Amino acid sequence: MPPFDIPEGDPFGPHNLPYGVFSLPGSADRTVGVRLGDQVLDAGAAAQALGSPHAALLARPTLNPLLAAGRTTWSEVRRTLTDAVTDPAHRTTLEPLLHPLPSVALHLPFEVADYVDFYSSEHHARNAGSIFRPDAGDTLLPNWKHLPIGYHGRAGTVVVSGTDVVRPSGQRKTPADPAPVFGPSARLDIEAEVGFVVGAPSRHGHPVALADFREHVFGLCLLNDWSARDIQAWEYVPLGPFLAKSFATSVSAWITPLEALEEARVAPPRRTHPLLPYLDDSATEPAGYDLRISVALNGQVVAEPPFSTMYWTAAQQLAHLTVNGASLRTGDLYGSGTVSGPAEHQRGSLLELTWNGRDPLDLPGGKRTFLEDGDEVTLSAWAPGPDGLRVGLGEVRGRVVAGS
Ligand code: CA
Repeated sequence: MPPFDIPEGDPFGPHNLPYGVFSLPGSADRTVGVRLGDQVLDAGAAAQALGSPHAALLARPTLNPLLAAGRTTWSEVRRTLTDAVTDPAHRTTLEPLLHPLPSVALHLPFEVADYVDFYSSEHHARNAGSIFRPDAGDTLLPNWKHLPIGYHGRAGTVVVSGTDVVRPSGQRKTPADPAPVFGPSARLDIEAEVGFVVGAPSRHGHPVALADFREHVFGLCLLNDWSARDIQAWEYVPLGPFLAKSFATSVSAWITPLEALEEARVAPPRRTHPLLPYLDDSATEPAGYDLRISVALNGQVVAEPPFSTMYWTAAQQLAHLTVNGASLRTGDLYGSGTVSGPAEHQRGSLLELTWNGRDPLDLPGGKRTFLEDGDEVTLSAWAPGPDGLRVGLGEVRGRVVAGS
């Protein structure tokens, strides 16, 4: 039994310790915390009480100083905090530094530098191809098996779980419309994704090799890439997503360090096409992650996408996004792309779950094709951990509200 009476098997036990940023009631002071069960431990105060040389990295209003410190420090800090919450000798010292989760406010845990979103699920890409290009023959575009497709998104509108999402307005035009119209999106959707958080920066002009993925990426979180399908369909030719995506991207309040996910590492699906050397992962350690995601709409689970089915790994995505010499900054965030598995109930977007509105979902509150005002979407996930335990990922929750 750990010293803080965490229920046995709790997915947020001492084996997990994800990082977030919180403030106490009535205070504007934000500081780094780690989640322990349904409590948050003031990480900076705990590190200071235990004499850690890294306390100053944690007594900060964002995770960025810790992210920038690099992998050796990440490991040392994690060891300190793991020791803190598992050694009964520290109980008296740390108990005053634990706060019940419902009593604190959780904030965006890091300052987002650049934001990139990929498109790395073969099942999602094939479903989208079938929906939008039904007569095209092969549902994958010719480049898809040769590079991880991505685009640059908008870092400034990444919001923390719990933030309401205002329905966007924009231009749309169906083939049947004689002219474009302007108004609130009528086809607001979600994309269940995993976000990867860059810690250590890279040098401009120097690509990051596949093998250096874990030197740069600190951890991951769930991510909801809200998408206005009607705005997207009209605007995306020829340069890709723009206003259909940039109004909001939600991330969880907790960043799970990669070190907590050692047991969840799996080999990606078999590669069907030879890869150029900078993407060839046939001889590297497994860089896929076995994350079991759930998508709930107004409390009802509507999909369970398996992250282990993603064709391109986060290491390949990082190698690709830097192969031209583009540098990484601390706080860079990149999304995996919608996670969809092979089965119908494993699809990570309403676009796929309803086949572009053709097959509405039957929910207790009524049928749904795309999101209505007041709808709340929650992504949650867990991964296999040590000793048969589960590693919980922080949820991502967001409610749609009407635009003003
Ligand atoms: Ca996306």
